[in-house]
Amino acid sequence: MKTNVTEIFASKVFNEEQMQQRLAKDTFKELQKTIRDGKPLNIKIANAVAHAMKEWALENGATHFTHWFQPMTGVTAEKHDSFITPSEKGKVIMEFSGKELIKGEPDASSFPNGGLRATFEARGYTAWDPTSYAFIKNDVLCIPTAFCSYSGHALDKKTPLLRSMEAINKEALRILHLFHHDDVTMVKSTVGPEQEYFLVDIEQYKQRKDLIYTGRTLFGLPAPKGQEMEDHYFGTIKSRVQTFMKELNTELWKLGVLVKTEHNEVAPAQYELAPIFSTSNIATDHNQLTMELIQRIAKKHGLVALLNEKPFEGINGSGKHNNFSLSTDTGINLLEPGETPYENAQFLLFLCAIIKAVDEYQDLLRLSVASAGNDHRLGANEAPPAIISIFLGDELTEVLEAIEKGISYDGKDREFMKIGAHVLPKFTKDTTDRNRTSPFAFTGNKFEFRMPGSASSIAGCNICLNTAIAEELRQYADILESAHDFESTLHALILDTIKNHKRIIFNGNGYDDSWIQEAEKRGLLNLRTTPDALPYFVHEKNIELFERNKVLNREEIYSRYEIMMEEYTKTINIEALTMINMAQKEILPAALKYSKHLAQSVKLKRDISTLIDTEYEEVNLTRLSSLLTQAYKNVLKLQESVDTLKGIDDFEKAAFFVRDTLILDMEQLRKPCDEMESIVSSQDWPFPTYGKLLFGI
Ligand code: ADP
Ligand code: MG
Repeated sequence: MKTNVTEIFASKVFNEEQMQQRLAKDTFKELQKTIRDGKPLNIKIANAVAHAMKEWALENGATHFTHWFQPMTGVTAEKHDSFITPSEKGKVIMEFSGKELIKGEPDASSFPNGGLRATFEARGYTAWDPTSYAFIKNDVLCIPTAFCSYSGHALDKKTPLLRSMEAINKEALRILHLFHHDDVTMVKSTVGPEQEYFLVDIEQYKQRKDLIYTGRTLFGLPAPKGQEMEDHYFGTIKSRVQTFMKELNTELWKLGVLVKTEHNEVAPAQYELAPIFSTSNIATDHNQLTMELIQRIAKKHGLVALLNEKPFEGINGSGKHNNFSLSTDTGINLLEPGETPYENAQFLLFLCAIIKAVDEYQDLLRLSVASAGNDHRLGANEAPPAIISIFLGDELTEVLEAIEKGISYDGKDREFMKIGAHVLPKFTKDTTDRNRTSPFAFTGNKFEFRMPGSASSIAGCNICLNTAIAEELRQYADILESAHDFESTLHALILDTIKNHKRIIFNGNGYDDSWIQEAEKRGLLNLRTTPDALPYFVHEKNIELFERNKVLNREEIYSRYEIMMEEYTKTINIEALTMINMAQKEILPAALKYSKHLAQSVKLKRDISTLIDTEYEEVNLTRLSSLLTQAYKNVLKLQESVDTLKGIDDFEKAAFFVRDTLILDMEQLRKPCDEMESIVSSQDWPFPTYGKLLFGI
């Protein structure tokens, strides 16, 4: 089937074009104002918009509508209502009111709320986010919404993201007005998330309880081949996968998602997809949709998509690179080095705000990507370490050093521009992004935050980035607005930031062990695991940051802290239970069966003659029997720890118990089981091996 991309693109989206066509001029104008300024719609306008939206949805085959929201579970939630309303003579008409568009009342009690429900209200409501277009998915009109408690506390990931965008807008505008950009009325953070994932065959997937229950393998010996030949990365995409990607692209385009790039990733069976960037809010919504569709469409092709950060031991896991910048409504990228000295000063100021933000709020950035799955990647030589640092590249670093030393930058034979007494080179893209090991790299006109895990929502890290940068811009604006001499105050601000925060800049190899020691000397945080990182959320400095910028209040922060810690504990508890189940029900019985087979062989041979060699059987039988005992003991130990965990009520103690005890017990159980896999015949092994999973498509 031929696909006309320009025709199908956004065909399932109630976008500006549809609004303009279907709404009266005044209504359209009012709606545009709401979308721009976030002001609530009056009910008359809402009714008109709802009517037009419904007509459009019905024409496109929808029968239901839903408020589509992003609770703290990390996946999206929806409750469908059909448009039907009873009418005369036992018939129905299709109706959708402005009230239904603006507000919904899902039962909040079944979503994670981290104590907010007990303290405040059980009920929650969803409120339309008009900055993200409504769309049709599976014949349901989906209305992107924020999810709050009746006391106004955010229960979702979108609300604080929108608030953080508002904060950065406000402070960035203050700075831009100081630089006389009076035409700019809006600044938005922009994000282009690159999404990695694995694909495995559905029939093999169904035979592995670990994949079914946890999304990752908990047992398994490495296949003879891994990623060492480097032959998968950018290699030819297999035809079954290609067909899947084609359908995925088509469906995402229909939803207005700007999918652009697709390729094989480093590990076997690993792939990546990247869209063209959009505002943080829309990028987050679209990334959620992308994850959902990757999984749904894979199934149609007999495949299962694994979004987990570490589905397989011994090969790379999956991440999500969060490309980040700031854009004005006049189309300027604020992280693009400028053409004139004046623009360069502005660029340097925004750059400094980011340097200061990343240094002062390392803890927040780290914890914004903390999850049980991501703990396996960070610092494991396949992703950046758990230490936050910034890569600026040699040129930009030299510029900052020159400013610090008060000398003019003496760059190579490039085109230079002056800022005051200093000069700034024009960066070409290929002179920057040379370092793939940095967690936060400047890539010419944006930063790439490489720590987020593949399964998590990008809302978390963008809330932290937006808020921390907004805070630094606020401090700069406060000083600059009251400065007598703008130029020299600006210069002093840039200089101070470089002096006080240069420790966060690191252009070397982030995978190198010596960096860990160096970072420690510099006083940078190294928060290795999720329970190490998350408690920083409730540090006074961070609560102040979020409260001052009106992004999250104290109660919301505490509730989120609890939810995230519990999520960690629950995730690993499920993994532990799955391991016990697989060991007891599958691995131990399989090993036992194979030992019996070996024992019988010895006996049979002996019956014939004692001269027949039984070395293979005896050596393996002995080893297998000893491994069986070890595995059995380790199952008991793990079970004991799981039982202990059940008795720990305190969520912090529980998370630390998981980190310090449960995970070690799980590793201890895996070892003998994996070794048994190397002895037992393929036929007798109870589930598909790494080889089949990774090379089976
Ligand atoms: P690569 O990282 O493979 O070299 P690019 O740098 O071109 O590829 O882009 C990676 C991602 O960064 C894409 O999703 C792209 O849309 C996004 N991106 C590009 N410019 C910006 C920007 N100004 N703000 C946010 N994301 C951006
Ligand atoms: Mg990139």
